[in-house]
Amino acid sequence: MFCPYCRNADSRVVDSRLADDGSAIRRRRQCPQCGRRFSTVETTTLSVIKRSGAGEPFSRSKIINGVRKACQGRPVTEDDLALLAQEVEENIRASGVAEIDAHEVGLAILEPLRQLDQIAYLRFASVYQGFESLDDFEEAIGTLRRQNEDTGQRVPTGLQRPLTAH
Ligand SMILES: [Zn+2]
Repeated sequence: MFCPYCRNADSRVVDSRLADDGSAIRRRRQCPQCGRRFSTVETTTLSVIKRSGAGEPFSRSKIINGVRKACQGRPVTEDDLALLAQEVEENIRASGVAEIDAHEVGLAILEPLRQLDQIAYLRFASVYQGFESLDDFEEAIGTLRRQNEDTGQRVPTGLQRPLTAH
């Protein structure tokens, strides 16, 4: 790797440490020619295999773009989206795979998105999982309600169950 300051072809590692919970190594390097220091980050490559069979490098910005549409009009910030994409990448990397199907990337998005915003989750799931009828929505909402009851999470406005008489 060339020194970014003087383009010298050689550099010396002066420090190495684990980063991102061990999924990356950060190296501090020094150029023997100009003496300046710079950092490199080493991670395993992570490829996403598309339906066509072609692979492309995993990209957080693709995750963000895919989820952003489902979040339109919802109280979700760009920071929330960046954190979600980071969580998706960390979860996939933690599973130790070097390649992942695009379909499984979608699956890996569902859970963090559910925790971020349930309406955005329903929108994303309806497209991603190909909801075809009201029954599909009803089933997904039913699952959300059960999970909300388990965790004591508030049901979003509009999804509240009508009060039942006891
Ligand atoms: Zn240099």
